[in-house]
Amino acid sequence: MKVRTRFAPSPTGYMHIGNLRTALYEYLIAKANGGDFLLRIEDTDQKRYVEGATEIIYNTLKTVGMNWDEGPDIGGNYGPYVQSERKPLYAEYAHKLVELGGAHYCFCSKSDADEEKNEELNIKFKDPCKLIPLEEAKKRVAAGEPYVIRQTINKKGKSKYHDEVYGDIEIDYDELDEGVLLKSDGFPTYNFANVVDDHLMGITHVVRGNEYISSTPKYNLIYEDFGWEHPFYVHVPPVMKDAQHKLSKRNGDASFQDLVAKGYLPEAIINYIALLGWNPGTEEEIFSLEDLKKVFSVERLSRSPSIFDITKLTWMNGCYIRALSPEKFHQMAMPYYNAMPEGINLEALSRTLQPRVETLGQIAEQTDFIRALPDYSLELFANKKMKTDASVAKMVMPEIRKVLAEQKDWNNDALFESLKALAEKLGVKNGQVLYPARIALSGKETTPGGATEIAVILGQVETLRRIDTAIAKL
Ligand SMILES: [Zn+2]
Repeated sequence: MKVRTRFAPSPTGYMHIGNLRTALYEYLIAKANGGDFLLRIEDTDQKRYVEGATEIIYNTLKTVGMNWDEGPDIGGNYGPYVQSERKPLYAEYAHKLVELGGAHYCFCSKSDADEEKNEELNIKFKDPCKLIPLEEAKKRVAAGEPYVIRQTINKKGKSKYHDEVYGDIEIDYDELDEGVLLKSDGFPTYNFANVVDDHLMGITHVVRGNEYISSTPKYNLIYEDFGWEHPFYVHVPPVMKDAQHKLSKRNGDASFQDLVAKGYLPEAIINYIALLGWNPGTEEEIFSLEDLKKVFSVERLSRSPSIFDITKLTWMNGCYIRALSPEKFHQMAMPYYNAMPEGINLEALSRTLQPRVETLGQIAEQTDFIRALPDYSLELFANKKMKTDASVAKMVMPEIRKVLAEQKDWNNDALFESLKALAEKLGVKNGQVLYPARIALSGKETTPGGATEIAVILGQVETLRRIDTAIAKL
């Protein structure tokens, strides 16, 4: 059996972290077994349609490197891969299911809105229309009476199936409602479309949220009525914001796009979300997508919900940033250097920042003092450990200026040697020169890098200008 999985998102306009994790698990199940990974767009809920939303799905998957083998844009042998383009298929199969006794025509005046409400309220609807003889129902349909096609559930006892994560599941048939499969507008509901599509597309493993555990017996009945084999089920617990709340865009929780915009690397996001609900069975935590393809297994998926921990993701992102080549980091940091004053040594800035930031988004706050010297207070010059204060600064600053004005080699080592020599000449500690110099150059208590690193970044002209500002202040 060739493993075939599908990622079947609705085009909602953003990539929810939980959805991306589902896609990742689908992808890994396929790729760990030499199988195919399909992309299917579930756009039959026309009310939720968002312009440009499929592009976001394509871009997200491409950005993280989860390439699909079949999909709307590249085609395949099982298309079309967009549900709205499959509309006639669903009607055909729904009518067939009526003939097979697995569904019936329903003429109840309940609107589709009521249907959704019932689902929310968890009311088990048993439809009286299933008692209408089929021949009579067909006549009413032929006469143009509005109808929907509903599932017929006459079975008694317990429905049983196996889930790869939750084990054997038993649900009483009485607990299942006779939901709509085909709406009055001819569009299928999710409950019907997913079964028809998964079967026709040869899907072998279905990954989805554990909220579908209780609906799965309804899908299995449809498979049975058609005489089809149902896929392996892999239900996964939700990604949580905290112990009580699911992660949700509605609550303002970050989507994949939001995280990337904040300077998280796609590789780090994928690595982190892989571990939300799966563990490798070792202490190892850093996995590229290629690594994951080798080590991922369904057996190690967890039944308990996992909490999305931004601190952990940030730590992991820092690991990925430090592992970048200096050239690659510089290239990624460049967009964050907009509106820098002229003469700033951006390569030196990148070298200083790379070991010190955990997200690219932190670059802005780390470099604010480079854009413009803050209006700092003289109290900043005071530091007990360095045995320095404003009066020490006042004494050393003109000397520092002389040394820096005469400096030929404007690099970190040479500058450090010159300032160290100055401290020796003045008979003070190194820190009594370097600390005031750093404050003068940055106007900040904490900075990425020391005085000489900052001097290299600023360049000689701006460095001397800032020293002059300090002399004037002191
Ligand atoms: Zn009815």
